[in-house]
Amino acid sequence: TRGTVHAEVVVLGAGPGGYTAAFRAADLGKQVVLIERYPTLGGVCLNVGCIPSKALLHVAKVITETKEIEQQGIVFSKPQVTIDKLRTWKESVVGKLTKGLAALAKQRKVEIIQGAGKFVSPNMMEVDTADGIKTVSFDHCIIAAGSTAARIPGVPYDDTRMMDSTDALRLLDIPKRMLVIGGGIIGLEMATVYDALGSQISIVEQMDQLIPGADNDLVKPLYQHLLKRYEAIYLGTKVSKIEAEEKGLNVVFEGDHAPEPQLYDRILIAVGRRPNGKMIGAEHANVHVNERGFIPVDMQMRTNIPHIFAIGDIAGEPMLAHKATYEGKLAAEVIAGHKVAFDARTIPSVAYTDPEIAWMGLTEVEAKKQGIEYEKATFPWAASGRAIAMGREEGFTKLLLDKNSRQILGAGIIGAHAGELIAETVLALEMGVDAQDISLTIHPHPTLSETIFFSAEIAENTITDLYM
Ligand code: FAD
Repeated sequence: TRGTVHAEVVVLGAGPGGYTAAFRAADLGKQVVLIERYPTLGGVCLNVGCIPSKALLHVAKVITETKEIEQQGIVFSKPQVTIDKLRTWKESVVGKLTKGLAALAKQRKVEIIQGAGKFVSPNMMEVDTADGIKTVSFDHCIIAAGSTAARIPGVPYDDTRMMDSTDALRLLDIPKRMLVIGGGIIGLEMATVYDALGSQISIVEQMDQLIPGADNDLVKPLYQHLLKRYEAIYLGTKVSKIEAEEKGLNVVFEGDHAPEPQLYDRILIAVGRRPNGKMIGAEHANVHVNERGFIPVDMQMRTNIPHIFAIGDIAGEPMLAHKATYEGKLAAEVIAGHKVAFDARTIPSVAYTDPEIAWMGLTEVEAKKQGIEYEKATFPWAASGRAIAMGREEGFTKLLLDKNSRQILGAGIIGAHAGELIAETVLALEMGVDAQDISLTIHPHPTLSETIFFSAEIAENTITDLYM
């Protein structure tokens, strides 16, 4: 059957960007159609990204802590992993959220069409549904089609022992010896999970540091911690070839510190993500897609075609869920006639590793590159009463300040709960707060949040006691 519907706003893709845009547009009185190829809403983040990875990282943390607490004289017996039960629990976490989204869509009368959509003209989209092709004509469109795991050449992708992050999150079994290609956030998070579950982990990263976007001083304590836990970490090293053999995947490395070829039971490829810009027939709508597959947008998330918008991973880096939701809301509001534009001062990044790393605003690398004069105030967690009481002294908190105005320019935190702690500094940056504002704000004692306060006191030269 051929059906045609009209939408005031059509949203392509139901990830965090797409569902947020659809819900906001509906709340602002628009009649909305949301197109999604998969049976559940939530996109990468809810189904195969942020949420299932954090569910498994929670479990990894508990396992690791029951081991680490031996130093305090508490000995648990070795954990027994029932992987089917763990998988079921992870799926239930995802299910709660995706079902919640479906209910929220229904409440708002957002019409969902399940199927792959593509443009056929600047005002028309075709959706390949289970009941045949449906046509959707629209006044406005928001492209929120996200991204896919990137691939590298010379890899036997058909071999079931090769995984991307989606495969790794399926948690089919616990491999004995596993190589993670890519030392970025996604690769390290999945390594954290499989390490806790009992796999022997090696990491290979072609840059000369893990998490290349973050300042090296922040990453170093994590690197040192992982060196102790993992079989190997090869920095400045590339994988040139992978051969599928019966007894394992044979990996050939390349670079100054490259090891001899090695056999692994399983390989996770986490070398970044590629935007889906070339898969949606954008050329039929005359929407410009760049050579990498991103769709360029202006400050209001508008593409080169004024009634077509793009948001989230497909609209540019950083590819993060909180960027996608912010942009989704913004695009819906622009379409509803609000006079708004992208004016966030920063998009914070978090690696949910153990310890966590979080940063926002300017990094030192960026400040130096831009010739910005900054002052740095660093507080070591070895002097935080709370961190010591938690047995987590490896962390530190640093603030970067403008030399003249003393306003916060950036912040970086490594340590337990860094991802939660960074939010205070994001607010500080957004509000134009200076170091004195933070140092005169009473923080609860004893907390890790005090490490931000102590950093500000160090900047202001008012710190009295390093051992609080
Ligand atoms: P997506 O979530 O990619 O959603 C796009 C949707 O569009 C998908 O549902 C797709 O099926 C659909 N679609 C695409 N093409 C079509 C088409 N032609 N027709 C119909 N539907 C289509 N970010 C964080 O901020 N924090 C984290 O902790 C975090 N962890 C992550 C962990 C992993 C393992 C991965 C892979 C990613 C993680 N991310 C995290 C990144 C985050 O998932 C993405 O930034 C976010 O999902 C982007 O949202 P989006 O709406 O732009 O696109």
